[in-house]
Amino acid sequence: MSNRLMLRFFLGASLALSGCVREHNDPVDSGLGDDAFAENDAGDTDAGEGADGGVPDTCAEPARGSVIGAGSVTAGAANHYLLRGRVVSPDVVFAPGEVLISGDRIVCVDTDCSSHSEASDATVVETAGVIYPGIVDAHNHTQYNYLPIWVPNPPGLFQNRGDWAARNDYSDFTASVNDNESAHVCQQVKYGELRALVGGTTTIQGTFNSNRRCFRTLVNNAEYGPFGTTDRMRTNITGVDAIDAMDATTISGQMASGDVTAYVIHLGEGIDEESRAEFDTLVEKNLLAAQTVVIHGTAFGATEFAMMGAAGAKLVWSPFSNLLLYGGTTNVPAALDAGVSVSLAPDWTPSGSVSLLQEMRVARRHSCENWDGRLTNEDLVKMVTSIPAHALALDDQVGTLAPGLAADVLVIADRGGDAYAELVNAQMQDIRMVFLSGIPRYGDAALMAATPRTACEAFSMCGSDKFICVPDNTDGTDTLNESLMSIQSTIEMFYPGILPLEACEG
Ligand SMILES: [Zn+2]
Repeated sequence: MSNRLMLRFFLGASLALSGCVREHNDPVDSGLGDDAFAENDAGDTDAGEGADGGVPDTCAEPARGSVIGAGSVTAGAANHYLLRGRVVSPDVVFAPGEVLISGDRIVCVDTDCSSHSEASDATVVETAGVIYPGIVDAHNHTQYNYLPIWVPNPPGLFQNRGDWAARNDYSDFTASVNDNESAHVCQQVKYGELRALVGGTTTIQGTFNSNRRCFRTLVNNAEYGPFGTTDRMRTNITGVDAIDAMDATTISGQMASGDVTAYVIHLGEGIDEESRAEFDTLVEKNLLAAQTVVIHGTAFGATEFAMMGAAGAKLVWSPFSNLLLYGGTTNVPAALDAGVSVSLAPDWTPSGSVSLLQEMRVARRHSCENWDGRLTNEDLVKMVTSIPAHALALDDQVGTLAPGLAADVLVIADRGGDAYAELVNAQMQDIRMVFLSGIPRYGDAALMAATPRTACEAFSMCGSDKFICVPDNTDGTDTLNESLMSIQSTIEMFYPGILPLEACEG
């Protein structure tokens, strides 16, 4: 078996296992021996306040107890919601707790929100769930996310992203994106946005740069001024070498002045010196700043991370994609030791996870097998909520449950375990509700009465009956009234092998 096929098996196993439990047939030797999966003091830093009152070992076999209830809806005002359940803010756990929503904003997060006037006529949702901020995906390529995993021919691992990006079989694999962009970019992007929604993601970075109206209704896009704010984000996909001196001076000045609050750049994606040296180029161009958000940094060591930490720069980590393409991933402990904040993101479906739920488990498994369980469940939850929101300079809008922030909320069926572990262990069908800007857009069919939307479809996620509200109720402009079925069938016309939104685990 080639290294690449071994890794593919390893990664597949990691998803099926829902955690860092090693099986006897695991083809990748962690080198840590069985002790790595015994009691692990690193997990004891987890501040999770589970229903059992204990703090679990992050690397112990994940508990998957029975769902404690189906939840219920008591109808009230359509623009006021009172959600009851265990609430993970994520810095504080309220068990039990309440989240009160008015319009598109959160007005209360506490053990009891009844003193607020909006609670008096609110639609009450007894979630029987664990309530989190909507997931913030700090890096993706939304338009590509109808594609399955790319299998190179011949298979093998790469040294850097230029190695695979230059291959004809890679170009052939992704050709349908460009070939159909002019006619079907709305469907391509909206399908990627729907993949985010059904995975609990409510804010995503990396959406096609277009002024089409059809985008950005199914998930908040970090770019282009979401939440009515000014667009202060800049992105770079082509690489630091492509930035000329004038652009570098402009961007550097914009970061210094505050005109740019997040500069998201692919950097150091690979395992060779060429990839590492991209950091030197970034520094030479005066683009290392607190606003710099490095995507990957796979080739970096302590020296680069020390400089990032000193500058206050951020890192976005995509372990699934790194391991699949390069056989190694970013030295996250070195980054954390240097004080660099680390977010998790899938990158895209051709080499990454289908959701951040899966990516958290890949990260946990890698941490348990290689880093002595350094990353706790609480760490992982924050790496997909409050930390990426801060990295993207959107923490005054999303990433935590707090009064005044956007009412983007994720509810998971409660199985009674540690409140942080519940999200890391959650499978796609466990997602009970997703609120986007105060409106339930996806969730269990049994709770469909909670949404004021009328154009909702039935959707099956791994044996669980869901509703999903895709079309705009009133606006047919630029395909905004398209259903999920319509979007999907359009893509299937030019790409019959579309990656389903339904992603089930063993
Ligand atoms: Zn990327």
